[in-house]
Amino acid sequence: MVKATDSYRGRFAPSPTGPLHAGSLVAACASYLEARSRGGEWLVRMEDLDPPREMPGATDDILRTLEAFGFEWDGEVLYQSRRHDHYAEALRELERQDVVYGCGCSRREIADSSVHGIEGPVYPGTCRGGLPAGRGVRAWRVRTTDEAMVFEDGWQGRIERNLARDYGDFVVKRTDGFWAYQLAVVVDDADQGITHVVRGADLLESTPRQIHLQRLLGFPAPRYAHCTVVTNAQGEKLSKQTGAVALDARQAVPQLLDALGHLGQTLPGELRDADLDSLWGWAIANWAPGVKSAHTALEAE
Ligand code: GLU
Repeated sequence: MVKATDSYRGRFAPSPTGPLHAGSLVAACASYLEARSRGGEWLVRMEDLDPPREMPGATDDILRTLEAFGFEWDGEVLYQSRRHDHYAEALRELERQDVVYGCGCSRREIADSSVHGIEGPVYPGTCRGGLPAGRGVRAWRVRTTDEAMVFEDGWQGRIERNLARDYGDFVVKRTDGFWAYQLAVVVDDADQGITHVVRGADLLESTPRQIHLQRLLGFPAPRYAHCTVVTNAQGEKLSKQTGAVALDARQAVPQLLDALGHLGQTLPGELRDADLDSLWGWAIANWAPGVKSAHTALEAE
């Protein structure tokens, strides 16, 4: 049963670094099913902000694959590559508030930091009080505070982090001149009126930083839910780097069934022979969110 809610707007935001794979399909299904089962909207945003990591043709390939798998998005696809002015405006606002600063440290100097957080070295704050003599600005960092940041994740429960200790002052504009994911995603989620962010748990540690930026920029905070990511036999998250195989549109139904199984849905055996329309009809009507188990099995017939 589709429950109508006042407003629910979700999104799927792939980076065109390669074709979609089983891991991206799980994230797409989770956000799609959350949105559609609540009568909400579902948007697609292309996060093409990082040309050095992008693969020619991946943008079109991703959109064609989503279509071939039966995803229907609302409105036009938003391209981050066309939104530099919006990110620049957000950086100016942060500068006005004096919560960002230019950092002149090299990658090596930061990697040598003896302070470690959740995702590696924490920036030691060298340029916090101003650039050392003879240094130019390489990247822009936002100041973090040494206090608890708490949010309730729809699937992972209560998450508590300390921004200064766990991540340190983080980059909003990179040394190579490109916008950092953390800044762009916050600006776009706000501009697109996203109310619910559903994505893979590999991005869980980004969320406290994003909430920090939302608060500074005066944006509403969406609700967050992070689903278990798909790993390979070595326990690594599926990605282009770990050799994930591209989705095959001719195998859309079985690959969707695998994704639904990963999301803990109990699948009736007859879905094996379903076409895409009936599969989506079933999945939306029967979506049982929040099941963390990663088992994949069709019920015995
Ligand atoms: N573009 C990011 C990725 O492909 C996802 C960003 C997000 O969902 O916030 O990993």
